[in-house]
Amino acid sequence: MPSPRNRSRHLPGPSAPALLVFYALLGLTPLLIAALRGGAGGEFWRALSSGLAMIGFAMLLAQFLLSGRFRRVSGRIGIDVTMRFHQLAAWVALAFLLVHPLLYAVPALADGPGAALPRLAGMFASPGLRPGVVAWAVLVLLVLMAAWRDRLPLRYEGWRLTHGVGAALVAALGLHHTLGVGSHAQDPVLAGFWMVLTAVALASLAYVYLVKPLLKRRAPWRVTGNDKVAERMWRVTVEPDDGHGFDFHAGQFAWLNLGHSPFNLVEHPFSISSAPEQRPQVEFTIKQRGDFTNRIGEVEVGTRAWLDGPHGAFTVAGRDATRLVLIGGGVGFAPVVGMLRSLRAQRWPHPVDVIYGNRLEGQILYREELQAIAGELDMRLHLVLSEPPPGWAGPTGVLDREVIRACLQARDGQVHPEALYFVCGPLPMMDVVEAALSDLGVADGNMVSERFAYH
Ligand SMILES: Cc1cc2nc3c(=O)[nH]c(=O)nc-3n(C[C@H](O)[C@H](O)[C@H](O)COP(=O)(O)OP(=O)(O)OC[C@H]3O[C@@H](n4cnc5c(N)ncnc54)[C@H](O)[C@@H]3O)c2cc1C
Repeated sequence: MPSPRNRSRHLPGPSAPALLVFYALLGLTPLLIAALRGGAGGEFWRALSSGLAMIGFAMLLAQFLLSGRFRRVSGRIGIDVTMRFHQLAAWVALAFLLVHPLLYAVPALADGPGAALPRLAGMFASPGLRPGVVAWAVLVLLVLMAAWRDRLPLRYEGWRLTHGVGAALVAALGLHHTLGVGSHAQDPVLAGFWMVLTAVALASLAYVYLVKPLLKRRAPWRVTGNDKVAERMWRVTVEPDDGHGFDFHAGQFAWLNLGHSPFNLVEHPFSISSAPEQRPQVEFTIKQRGDFTNRIGEVEVGTRAWLDGPHGAFTVAGRDATRLVLIGGGVGFAPVVGMLRSLRAQRWPHPVDVIYGNRLEGQILYREELQAIAGELDMRLHLVLSEPPPGWAGPTGVLDREVIRACLQARDGQVHPEALYFVCGPLPMMDVVEAALSDLGVADGNMVSERFAYH
């Protein structure tokens, strides 16, 4: 799990350590119940196998809550960190559940390696174990498909649907197997625990795919503007029909569904590049990149829109900051623009350094507005180009340690590690910038990052 970089305590949800402890306790609860209530026991390999299966299955069921975009779960640590944890926990649960059937064959190894195979084959072919075997195989497939999602000939929405349906199948078949043949299956308390946990998991799935869209239907939005703002970049503005919309903090993001039913899975996450002070209007800055975004320029004013948000912890709100450094690259500048607009509306009195990297001059977003904001705040704006036009007077190069250091020292010759640093941009850029900031003495706790991808 990557270190949660300075997540705000004013956002809803538990802190990262609290979530970890809860997750570990949930995983160990069935073991605890089994130990307290006695029962099956049995020889070592059998006990180990069922213990690992119990932890793995409890972790697997908890995954539904982690991946459900629940603000009460991920509001404070951020969806990116929660999703990363979801991915890592999936590997651990998979490892536990993978070895679960294999351990039953270990005692047979005493009669030679060949003896274990018939035992395993017999187990996998047994009709009574079929639900468990199917759940086992589907789980392996789900985790592998998620790990290699980008290489599958499947659209994101198709993958998401397969992932949700497959996970529900694993949960249902896993419960059937546990209650039917689990070594502690007869214990009513443990059986109750599994039934409740599976019900919560499936209910959270139903909430995401059915209840949430139904709630969204009560809060329709529509597109009120769509214009090209830079090379392959579009500004899409939406407004709520009810005139209120939602409350958000500058820098957060929302899932945007344009022109479909709220039940449709075609929705994409975009940072909000307007300020909360501009509510009820919400603005996104979208870069053409793939199937959906390449056609963003064709979206007409008046198109029905649905928003799921706000999400994310990339925000100054609730943090103690008297000096800010905002670093953005390419379209990763979108949430930074929202933050700057909000700082301007609040007449923020403290120093702000903005480092904005692009390849070409034509890619710079909202240049005049940025210069105007710089004039109103105690703000230094560094527009950095890696392929500058002839005569470019600003800094040049990619956002590496030296460029960042030069920009940070331009104000008073110093790097201020005590400032709060926000970083958003292409993934390779972010890795370089975070490493550069660490090198320059900035602690992890003073960095807040937003990655535009969940891997
Ligand atoms: C928190 C967050 C904030 C973002 N903010 C912005 C922003 O302000 N401006 C901007 O231009 N882009 C933003 N993005 C990226 C944007 O969501 C993707 O570029 C867009 O979804 C790509 O869709 P596509 O069909 O055009 O491209 P594709 O080529 O189909 O997809 C490219 C990649 O984008 C990811 N992706 C595709 N669809 C989805 C989806 N529905 N949900 C999640 N990931 C998906 C997948 O990893 C895929 O491999 C953000 C992403 C995240 C996670």
